[in-house]
Amino acid sequence: MRRKRLFWQLFPTFIIIAVVSLIAVIWFASTSFKSFYIDQTRKDLISHAFLIENKFRNLMLRGDTEEIDSVCQMLGTKSSTRITAINVSGKVLGDTEEYPASMDNHNDRPEVIEARKGTVGSSIRYSHTLRQEMLYVAIPVELPDGNQAILRMSLSLSSIGDALWSINTRIIIGGLVIVAIIILVSLFMTIRISKPLEEIKRGSERFARGDFSQKIQVFDPLEFSRLADSMNQMAHELDKRIKAIISQRNEQEAVLASMVEGVLAVDMEERIIGHNRAARELLGISSKDSERRILHEVVRNIDLQRFVARVLSTRESAEEEIVLRDTHEKYIQVHGTVLRDATGEGIGALVVLNDVTRLHRLEAIRRDFVANVSHELKTPVTSIKGFVETLLDGAMNEPESARRFLEVISRQADRLNAIIEDLLTLSRMEQDSGRTKISLRMEPLNTVLKTAIQVCELKAQESNIRIKLSCAEDLKAKMNAPLLEQAIINLIDNAIKYSESESVVAISGSQENGEIIIKVTDRGPGIAKEHLSRLFERFYLVDKARSRKLGGTGLGLAIVKHISQAHGGYPEVESTPGKGSTFSIHLPADN
Ligand code: ADP
Repeated sequence: MRRKRLFWQLFPTFIIIAVVSLIAVIWFASTSFKSFYIDQTRKDLISHAFLIENKFRNLMLRGDTEEIDSVCQMLGTKSSTRITAINVSGKVLGDTEEYPASMDNHNDRPEVIEARKGTVGSSIRYSHTLRQEMLYVAIPVELPDGNQAILRMSLSLSSIGDALWSINTRIIIGGLVIVAIIILVSLFMTIRISKPLEEIKRGSERFARGDFSQKIQVFDPLEFSRLADSMNQMAHELDKRIKAIISQRNEQEAVLASMVEGVLAVDMEERIIGHNRAARELLGISSKDSERRILHEVVRNIDLQRFVARVLSTRESAEEEIVLRDTHEKYIQVHGTVLRDATGEGIGALVVLNDVTRLHRLEAIRRDFVANVSHELKTPVTSIKGFVETLLDGAMNEPESARRFLEVISRQADRLNAIIEDLLTLSRMEQDSGRTKISLRMEPLNTVLKTAIQVCELKAQESNIRIKLSCAEDLKAKMNAPLLEQAIINLIDNAIKYSESESVVAISGSQENGEIIIKVTDRGPGIAKEHLSRLFERFYLVDKARSRKLGGTGLGLAIVKHISQAHGGYPEVESTPGKGSTFSIHLPADN
């Protein structure tokens, strides 16, 4: 549809009204003027005719036709009127314009016919004689002999035409002036109307862009100012609501962003409609290219896809554990619910993802631990039970065997004791580190190392093993002395245990790169590379038979690890099979 500007809507209407009224005025004015003029002229002609009636009556009585004609010419010329004298039979006796003899009988003329009836006759018609529109007036002239002559006065109407033309010209000029004024007025009105409209349009465009800072300023006309007020009010409401929505959205985003659980929302077509930071990290997706994309294009995990599809199709909440395989395996607990709109219609699904990998690991550790403890305890208990039964079965009576069996029972009881001691140490450590931090004090490292060596001295001498110590006297570390001593004893004990006799165990304390490092180096059998990463786990034994024979519980290094960590440090091992091992404890050096 072609759209017109306001000016073109108003302007033609004004022009049509002006032109129609102008035509009406011209028509009314000219017809009124014409009839008024003719009326006046007719009255004039009648009174002129009555004025000269007597003169003609006398001339007609005398029958002097020449005199009649000359009087007609003389009076007619003077009064600019055509005078015609007609006798009883209709013959023209005198005429201002023509020669009477050449004129035909005038009894058939309408004004003459009327006058013959004794009244004043008049008519307007075209004169073939003068070739123009004429007004005729005829009066009867009663003669004393009872006959009736007719005196006719006539005037050309062409002068009316001229007068009418001049009046009409003036009216038309006036009309054109009015049209010009109308054009100007409509232009002015259009501007007056369209200016506030333009302001309202600009304001509404600003509002549409979301800029509510500026109000629409329109003061008149009243209707437009009310419209502007309503729009300003609407913009104010809109602004308020948008701000409320934004603040709500920000709050929701803040809540979602700070959630540890991953949150992922999809629509019914499995298109991603939202996710929080935790979900992105868990699923390894970037925020930019995942919005509005189909889930399986973004997350390539068949279990999660099936889970979401199931929630969407059954429209029921569901819970499941899925495994994400990235660089490491991640166990994710997923909880899905149907997203519903205000009418309760399902519009998608919300999936909450919980990383339970740590729980899984802890559970696995706990299971292993229980199994290991049971196994480790079972071996000495079975052994003790076996020997006790043998003794009861009669071996008691053979002093030689009885002594040997009791020695074995005693060794196994020692072993049980060692395991229980180590377990208690570990559990105490875990409880302490779980609850409060252990108390640390700045103490000389040399002293602790020396005490630990003293504890192990006897055992070293048994195998003729020499212990070397190198540590600066003034080297101090923040420590819990009894605990650190326990850890160092464990390391020295192992070094002695796994070294050949006549060997050397070197112990050193030093400060390097902001760390206090305690090293225990032996020249024992060393440990194969594949065991190194698991060495500090509880009950981890490299060579089970040998370790057990040597009284190992598999808990010594786990205790070392715990004590190191309780000091804010960590343990480390370097080993070359066949050459020996170096176990070290790294502590932070707080200067
Ligand atoms: P254990 O009480 O049996 O010594 P640990 O936890 O202290 O238990 O040690 C775990 C395992 O690490 C041992 O079974 C042993 O095989 C190995 N190991 C520990 N220290 C040494 C070492 N100095 N040389 C060789 N192997 C060692």
